[in-house]
Amino acid sequence: MSIHILPEHVISKIAAGEVIERPASVVKELVENALDAGANTVTVEAKNGGRRFIRVADDGAGISAAEVELAVARHATSKLQSADDLARIETLGFRGEALASIAAVSYLTLTTRSRDEAAGTTLRVQGGEIVEKNPAGAPAGTVITVENLFYNVPARLEFLKSEATERRRIDEVVTRCAMAYPAVRFILRQEGRESFRTAGTGDLGDVLVDGLGLDDVKQMLPVVPQQSRPDLPPVQVRGFTSAPQLNRARRSHITLFVNGRHTSDTRLTHAVVKAYHTLLPEGRAPIAVLMITLPAEQVDVNVHPTNAEVRFRHPDAVFAAVQRAVRAAVLDQAPAPSVRSGAFSAPDVWAAPPARKQRFDVSDAQPAMDLPGAEPGRFTDPTRDAPEPLDVPRRTLPMLRVVGQVGASYIIAEGPASVYLIDQHAAHERVLFERFMAQHEAGEQMVQHMLEGTAVELDRASAALLEEHMGSLAQIGFVLEPFGDRTYKVRAVPEILTGQDPAEALRLILADMESGNAPAEQTVEARMAARACKMGAIKAGQVLTHAEMQALIRQLERCANPKTCPHGRPTLVQITSEQLEKEFGRR
Ligand code: ADP
Ligand code: MG
Repeated sequence: MSIHILPEHVISKIAAGEVIERPASVVKELVENALDAGANTVTVEAKNGGRRFIRVADDGAGISAAEVELAVARHATSKLQSADDLARIETLGFRGEALASIAAVSYLTLTTRSRDEAAGTTLRVQGGEIVEKNPAGAPAGTVITVENLFYNVPARLEFLKSEATERRRIDEVVTRCAMAYPAVRFILRQEGRESFRTAGTGDLGDVLVDGLGLDDVKQMLPVVPQQSRPDLPPVQVRGFTSAPQLNRARRSHITLFVNGRHTSDTRLTHAVVKAYHTLLPEGRAPIAVLMITLPAEQVDVNVHPTNAEVRFRHPDAVFAAVQRAVRAAVLDQAPAPSVRSGAFSAPDVWAAPPARKQRFDVSDAQPAMDLPGAEPGRFTDPTRDAPEPLDVPRRTLPMLRVVGQVGASYIIAEGPASVYLIDQHAAHERVLFERFMAQHEAGEQMVQHMLEGTAVELDRASAALLEEHMGSLAQIGFVLEPFGDRTYKVRAVPEILTGQDPAEALRLILADMESGNAPAEQTVEARMAARACKMGAIKAGQVLTHAEMQALIRQLERCANPKTCPHGRPTLVQITSEQLEKEFGRR
């Protein structure tokens, strides 16, 4: 083949592939144009996750009738005059590529009227070809409609994720733009329903309430600019970052903007996480929204066409500034003491009393302060009738008095000089687990025999795992018989699983064995037991009577490790009276 220059329409299709990856990229480019045009209100609509229809309307400066065609031409921009300007870009766009790229791979309709002109214009473009241009009556501003995105790029269409995923991406893009521009009103409608709206108050906190919800925002701490070092370029960091107790498994809840432009720069994200050093559990990340501002010539936004990365002239100064500002916010402003800070370290006054031999007395579970009318016994504890060992373990928690239940999930209890919030599911898991393991070690496994037996068919991988762990399964109370290819008959299950679907239980246990993400020091049997106890434990959302709660708490008080469930999550949160007094300003 001879070398030749590609025709323009092929070039724009290739270029489009770089800028326009998915419907959300279209939304991002159009919204950024609206913001660059000085819009006060930006309305975004999408249908079918943006595949079929995207419309972005703004009340910004508009485009004059004479320049409408230029707007959709490649490398046509009003935001950059010379290469010198590249060093100090203050608009979101500057490449002059977005509209041309979008137009190349969709049906695009642009209706616009410049603030300075009486009449507006409508331009229709299909696959990069202008097919119509007409004068139009329109309010000042611009409306761009993009239909049939990627209709001529089948490969792209194929790689799009589900509509739900694309919807979420669009949501993220609009939310981020709203965070960066709190003074602009944003309205997002997806599939005909309004899903997001901001009031344009200019206050980032208000946008966060719209985006994250009030509950989370209440736990966010303001980040304020710190004194900058005179020897380094000025870097300002402001925004919000979560108090340590509000955290997530992923870093994707850290949202960063550099000079108003969103970036997912991993080193910056890392700086935020590092600011929480020792304050967050390993592997957890905060929620943060930070606006980083520095002189335009200190940052190169020219690296990546979608600006996912930025390059700093003094990167270390920027990372240090981010880390310092976040650290200061967390250390200075975390409500002192935070409810969580003492949660898992009971003060020493509660060190367990000397071991006493005493019989576990069920009447213990219903102290005098029980509410009248509470009907005991509905909380059927499978091993309740089993003889209690004489050697009752000593208390590991103080005697707690149940005050009530909230959200059908948490028990509020009172102990000496503290209030406790107890996760009923986690607490019951712990109780069941310790009892189960005690029986297991004593060789007194309680099993539930099934007359008929249930046939369970497993996939190949699970069947192999089952063969491998047959011995451990038998140890904890499963009686299994081969019953044809990859099929087993379940003849008995650990008693804890009475009433549960045995097939589901087996599959979950085997899945745990496969994922292997349990603490390594646990035995295979303990890991299996932890899963069985999770299934057998009372669930969140289950209303408990006072007596049931009191019985559960009595059992928890005697667990060896009452403060975590077998999977290591907390069972209780403790608020000391000291903390309460501080919170209420009594001290
Ligand atoms: P860029 O934003 O990089 O300049 P675009 O292709 O996104 O490139 O847009 C090309 C030009 O069209 C812009 O420079 C701007 O002059 C004009 N334009 C695009 N969208 C709008 C809008 N919503 N309001 C006013 N002008 C717009
Ligand atoms: Mg643009």
